[in-house]
Amino acid sequence: MAKGTTPAMSQYYDIKEKYPDSILFFRMGDFYEMFEKDALIAGKELGLTVTSRNKNAEHPIPLAGLPYHAAEKYISILTEKGYCIALCEQVSDPKAKGLVQRAVVEVITPATTTRSHSLQEKENNFLASLISMGDKFALTCIDLSTGDVYILHCSSIEDVHQELQKRRVKELVLSKSSLNHDAFDSSGVRVINLDLKDNKSINTLYTQDILDHVGMSAEGISAESLMLGMQYLTQTQLMEIAHLRTPKILGHEYMSIPMRTYRHLEIFHTQRTGGKEHSLLGTIDCTVTSSGGRLAHSYLLQPLVDPAQITLRQDVVELLHTKGSLRSDLRKLLAATYDIERIISRLSMSRGNARDLKAIGKSLEHVSEIAALSQPLLALALGNTILAPCNSPEILELTTYIAERLTEDPPIELTQGGMIQTGFHPQVDEYRTLSKGAKEAMLAMQEQEKERTGISTLKIKHTSVFGYFIEISKAQRDKAPEHYQRKQTLVNAERFSTPELRELEERILQSSEHLYTLEYELYLELRDHVLHHIELLYSVAHSIAQLDVLASYAETAAERDYTRPTLHTSGPSTIVGGRHPVVEVLEQKKGSHFVANSSTLDKEHHALHLITGPNMGGKSTYLRQVALISLMAQCGMYVPATSAELKIYDRILSRVGAEDNLSSGASTFMVEMSEMAAILDSTTEHSLLILDEIGRGTSTYDGLSLAQAIFEHLHHHDRPHTLFATHYHELIEVAEQLPNAGNYSVGVGKRGDSIHFLHTIMEGGVADSYGIEVAKLAGIPLEVVQAATRILQQLEQEEGSGHRSKNQPSLFESPKPNHSAHMDMITDISGIDINTLTPLDAMGLLNEYISR
Ligand code: ATP
Repeated sequence: MAKGTTPAMSQYYDIKEKYPDSILFFRMGDFYEMFEKDALIAGKELGLTVTSRNKNAEHPIPLAGLPYHAAEKYISILTEKGYCIALCEQVSDPKAKGLVQRAVVEVITPATTTRSHSLQEKENNFLASLISMGDKFALTCIDLSTGDVYILHCSSIEDVHQELQKRRVKELVLSKSSLNHDAFDSSGVRVINLDLKDNKSINTLYTQDILDHVGMSAEGISAESLMLGMQYLTQTQLMEIAHLRTPKILGHEYMSIPMRTYRHLEIFHTQRTGGKEHSLLGTIDCTVTSSGGRLAHSYLLQPLVDPAQITLRQDVVELLHTKGSLRSDLRKLLAATYDIERIISRLSMSRGNARDLKAIGKSLEHVSEIAALSQPLLALALGNTILAPCNSPEILELTTYIAERLTEDPPIELTQGGMIQTGFHPQVDEYRTLSKGAKEAMLAMQEQEKERTGISTLKIKHTSVFGYFIEISKAQRDKAPEHYQRKQTLVNAERFSTPELRELEERILQSSEHLYTLEYELYLELRDHVLHHIELLYSVAHSIAQLDVLASYAETAAERDYTRPTLHTSGPSTIVGGRHPVVEVLEQKKGSHFVANSSTLDKEHHALHLITGPNMGGKSTYLRQVALISLMAQCGMYVPATSAELKIYDRILSRVGAEDNLSSGASTFMVEMSEMAAILDSTTEHSLLILDEIGRGTSTYDGLSLAQAIFEHLHHHDRPHTLFATHYHELIEVAEQLPNAGNYSVGVGKRGDSIHFLHTIMEGGVADSYGIEVAKLAGIPLEVVQAATRILQQLEQEEGSGHRSKNQPSLFESPKPNHSAHMDMITDISGIDINTLTPLDAMGLLNEYISR
């Protein structure tokens, strides 16, 4: 590395050497400067002008800079793009002689940032760390900004990938000795390789009691993965992390849904835009707090499988659904609370301020009101548990403690005073009076000097660089008395000082300095007192989030006329008048009406439904709505249906649409088959399967064969509840013959030669897809449509004349007997007198029958 010539540049290179993978924000006075490659990245990604530090040298050093007060905005742009920033500050007094000392105070990375600019209010921001042993994987997910810690156990790298995607993990820490980097190369997650240090320090973070409580041993891979994550946090935050919550071990108490199903069902994002709008969450979530929004997201990631747990949530939703005014008042109070989880994290990492403490105080005031208002919830088991922390007497103590100390609207800065209430601390009041008195004395001095000198334009002013001075306009500067000492000449004015002014300034400075120092000390005392109640605050934050989510479920149910489903662990799944929660809203916005549909999936009757019908008929919508209704129900939500009696599923698996994954070397069909293989591998008799147009990505015969074989396989093994939409009409006959499968189709109406979609699901198959009519509706040129119609007629004629068959023969059974030909043959044979038939005639007749 080329070394700079100046001491500051040598200092820069020494520091940069330690942070080669981060963009070094090097503080120079009021600017952060970036050099060399970092400057070029900043130029490209932030649109900053890149200049050169030593233009005339043989190798000029690229340089880019930004004002320190605008840094937050730039930092969030860079972290969002996946960069890390090493923030290097001046740590010695810049006014002192010699080179100012600088040090990196924080490394801001995409997964460890706690800056609100870089965080989505209603989303967690996860860092993950992974340790493996054989085919066991422990994955720890930590959200530093909320203190959430989850530990998951996976049984394959594929599972790990799924979890990383589901939780939208930004960075993954791997232990150098434990795993191969390459497995995550195309995961889209930033990977960090660390040497896992001695993990004994886990005992300093979590006591043995806590570890026992979550079933972790300090030597196990769960603990190691947690420590690996902690190690990275300490390394980037350059401080002890003390606010993380007790880890939650996520086990099998939740429904398992692969990431691709979340994608297919558009739970969090739509496939077309990748945005939240028109996703399930975007459509049904009406939480009013950030923590509620995050919990609503996390409930969808972890649908319940225990009917008792689901009932607990449903009971609260029902009460809030019935009591509209309680719900509305509660939501108003919840909306007035602040994001306690993120505030705790900031305060605990010394990145908070008095406004954060005030926000906690205000939120706690509302929590007491929430507890009082929500009395009716206490009659319910879950309501009682949720409200317990809100009824704690400590809440009142803490609210008062904060309220009597902080001013109503404290400043953001910690060292400029204005934080502590007048009347709370005698010394603060005294300094404040002194400081105020001195300022009044300054005004008095200004009037006195004006009078004494007769200079009407004389003013006493203040700047942070020059302190206090007497300013006289240019026109009157000759009138300045002899003892005025000139300080500065401006174009239009002259600035002076006097010994009296300096003395007064000293008095002001001293009293302000004392005041600011004391206020800061009192702030720290208050902050530590609040953090001493961290457990209570986290519990309260969780109560707020839970109430918010359940009230949001109730609100959506009331607004959209949803119903409370009943759930059971075995038996059929029946939905009466079901609707798709998103398409219904979209249709309403268009002024149309969503057509409700019913379904009964029953292992003993029709476990597998084959759904045929026209393109655009509503097959995919129907498939998805059944899956969404089950998912919503298992989260504890009401569902868009007239009534629903649902089986609790262990997993929802899906295969939908055409996707390819070229980066991982898989074609569209390969992706389809890999996903199908994973479904066949993991499905159980308690699963719900959504299969939309299996086998479309290959030749007709191959596709049809696979579709039929898969349908039959599912029927013969496990018989999971399956909705199977297809345009292979040959399968209608197959479904007819299987005892536990049934044919269903979407209706279509015809007016003249145009069609319209009824969107109703009916029993029985339909062997027409109306593809050409739909193509015409889609705007395919008339000439092409007419040509297609001619080709179709020709194909149908050929089929009629036996030249070509549009409906392929059943592939896995001997051809079906032709009944009328048989009848003719039987009549013929019964008329033969075998006593007179020669062997040669018999051979001839046999030949004739075969050729029929
Ligand atoms: P294809 O076979 O071409 O994939 P499809 O049968 O799967 O078509 P969908 O994609 O489900 O059809 O539905 C097409 C459109 O029809 C939807 O985008 C929606 O606007 C409308 N639609 C579907 N179902 C309903 C319904 N039950 N009520 C009202 N409109 C509906």
